[in-house]
Amino acid sequence: MGISAKMSRLGTETAFDVLARANALAAGGMDVVNLGIGQPDFPTPSNIVEAAIKALKDGHHGYTAANGIPELRIAVAEDIAKYRGVTVNPDHIIVVPGGKVTMAFAIEMFGEAGAEIMYPNPGFPIYESMIRFTGATPVPIPLIEENGFSFDADSVLAQITGRTRLIILNTPANPTGGIVPPVELEKLAEGLKKHPDVYVLSDEIYSRMTYDGEGHTSMLQFPALRDRLVILDGWSKTYAMTGWRMGWGLWPADLAPHAQRLCVNFHSCVNASAQYAGIEALRGDQSPVDMMMEAFDARRLLIHARLNAAPGVRCVMPKGAFYAFPNISSTGLSAKEMQDRLLSEKGVAVIAGTSFGAHGEGYVRFSYANSLENIERAMDRFDDFLKGL
Ligand code: PLP
Repeated sequence: MGISAKMSRLGTETAFDVLARANALAAGGMDVVNLGIGQPDFPTPSNIVEAAIKALKDGHHGYTAANGIPELRIAVAEDIAKYRGVTVNPDHIIVVPGGKVTMAFAIEMFGEAGAEIMYPNPGFPIYESMIRFTGATPVPIPLIEENGFSFDADSVLAQITGRTRLIILNTPANPTGGIVPPVELEKLAEGLKKHPDVYVLSDEIYSRMTYDGEGHTSMLQFPALRDRLVILDGWSKTYAMTGWRMGWGLWPADLAPHAQRLCVNFHSCVNASAQYAGIEALRGDQSPVDMMMEAFDARRLLIHARLNAAPGVRCVMPKGAFYAFPNISSTGLSAKEMQDRLLSEKGVAVIAGTSFGAHGEGYVRFSYANSLENIERAMDRFDDFLKGL
């Protein structure tokens, strides 16, 4: 077979495999509660859907500029000014089909044999997968439960070598729901002044999803990093638009043309009507986002209480996103055994912590983007399962 060696290094995202198994079990008649896949259970707000329909009726059926229609990029720049307090050039914004694409482009740009790329572990599985794909060496930044699944900036800085090209950060985080405290981000930004060739990819896809008035600290707030910082964000989570495939990257001036050439080579441009919907999402009524966040917050409190009441389980309070990441090591099951048995024996879909990297052993991810009623049902079954061990 003549396919390239790098294809054997490409990983996957277990959430999609578990989703397929959960759907197959449901199709066979099992009552499955899905706390596996990470997407809001709400429909996209209707004003956004209407904007897409209008765009189609208005005849927006053709290719657009590869980096996104100018009005959308201006709307993203306005959004960055509003929520991150920084003025940016819309020409440095590249609209792509989902947050993942900015990630893939940044890792492609810096990854090659001999290079090292640091990434959070446990973390979004595509970081490690794409790093390996490029031939670069993945260097994990361990996220520790005792630190609220954050890290200590000094240990991150201590891992930098002459080969480090890129550091990937993700706060609020998938799969842990953790937030890196602003003081650690500041220390990291300060320490990176000594490493001027190291770039940063800050995955801020959950930036609007924080609780308890915590707010979001963007890496954009550290001016010294701006000429070597890629910000990843998008519409998927904030506006319940995972299926629209809409994301944006803010790139340093010298990298934006490279990102744009990758767009031309890979996908030409993002679906035109979805881009018009994206403008409405950013500029239109934000109350649906507030409503969704209120619902997520109530679910967060419920799942956190239920997990901590479950025998042999403990769970730190998630501070952002919509995931809880309980420690299940006292149950005697591995993360993968817990994932597989909970689904096949009780019809509850969750994701093994090891799907997010080796440091996820002993944990499972529960997505609480589901109704309070379904969370109660899932947790009743989880309790039953644990009692039967
Ligand atoms: N980054 C993180 C941390 C995520 O959790 C996800 C999706 O789960 C993405 C990026 C990708 O988002 P999208 O669906 O917009 O590609």
